[in-house]
Amino acid sequence: MTTKNFYPAKKISTFYPPQRTLMGPGPSDTHPRVLSAMARPTLGHLDPVFTDMMEELKSLLRYIFQTSNLLTFPVSGPGSVGMEMCFVNMVNPGDKVIVCRNGVFGGRMIENVQRCGGTAVVVDDKWGAPVDPQKVEDALKQNPDARIVAFVHAETSTGALSDAKTLCEIAQRHNCLTIVDTVTSLGGSPVKVDEWKIDAIYSGSQKCLSCPPGLSPVSFSERVVELVKNRKGKVQSWFMDLNLLLGYWGTTRTYHHTAPTNALYALHEALVMLYEEGLEHSWARHQRNHTALKAGLQTLGIEYLVEEKSRLPQLNSVHVPEGVDEKEVRRRLLADYDLEIGAGLGDLAGKIWRFGLMGYSSRIENVMLCLGALETVLS
Ligand code: PLP
Repeated sequence: MTTKNFYPAKKISTFYPPQRTLMGPGPSDTHPRVLSAMARPTLGHLDPVFTDMMEELKSLLRYIFQTSNLLTFPVSGPGSVGMEMCFVNMVNPGDKVIVCRNGVFGGRMIENVQRCGGTAVVVDDKWGAPVDPQKVEDALKQNPDARIVAFVHAETSTGALSDAKTLCEIAQRHNCLTIVDTVTSLGGSPVKVDEWKIDAIYSGSQKCLSCPPGLSPVSFSERVVELVKNRKGKVQSWFMDLNLLLGYWGTTRTYHHTAPTNALYALHEALVMLYEEGLEHSWARHQRNHTALKAGLQTLGIEYLVEEKSRLPQLNSVHVPEGVDEKEVRRRLLADYDLEIGAGLGDLAGKIWRFGLMGYSSRIENVMLCLGALETVLS
């Protein structure tokens, strides 16, 4: 019998990624301070020095989310895991959930509800438009048995910002809990969990937090904690069961899963940087750089997809000019300028570009690089 050789066919050595400028829908550039934090010595996830750092992380996240919710922590997994954690814990089979869909990520929320055995009542809005509060009000009147309202604050697929405060007020008037996606908004636009009385919120490390992908900050109100504690059946996912995770991220520190320690150092450093800058200053920086990019795009004759009042400063979606090969433009930007911009998703594929100005990528040098490169490539 011959022994099979599993060695890779070609020689493989250390991977050195090129130095790109990330101006797509995420991930955005990681700040050098955050990258170097990741390279510090790995600690055990139950080491007292590490668990002290976890407490700091929780209080930094409370600041970023503007909340005093005790159950605020980073989930070990990307934004999609944060999303799923909200739905698997809060939706029981047979539950009715109002889900707002004005882009790709609202569609994923519908999938989540259905996979939990719930019924999604879908409130559709045009891609590029914000969620219409009147439609949500109407859906709640028609479905008085609905228990939850779920929506995406900042739709990354279109660049539209919805009015989270008003949507939460409507949900509360109808005795519903809220699940809010802030993957693209957190750190770049105001997010006020306590003031808006959001019940469950999740985000991602890789957008306006200047951190690599792979972690999902979440926060849950006392109402959700009570709901989950009093559930009749077990949460169908072992890994995402909040009751079990509380044993590690709550007041005790028992082994649940091996936390990604170095990734958590990175998030800690990214949040320290946001805390040093000040949240309001970060929101203002995102707005300033958006205004600069917008002015330059206008001189190139490029138009926005989203109406001015609902535009996300950190995610600029624009129409591809007539007769332009959009794929070729993106290819040249990457090949000649090491500059990544985003394409359209779903129905908007081939029709729009998405320019991200998120976190460490939201800098005036990037705006200038992007405008100069785009002008050359389009001429
Ligand atoms: N929700 C929104 C609004 C997003 O933009 C994304 C990712 O881009 C996600 C959810 C999913 O996050 P992740 O890709 O980190 O799983």
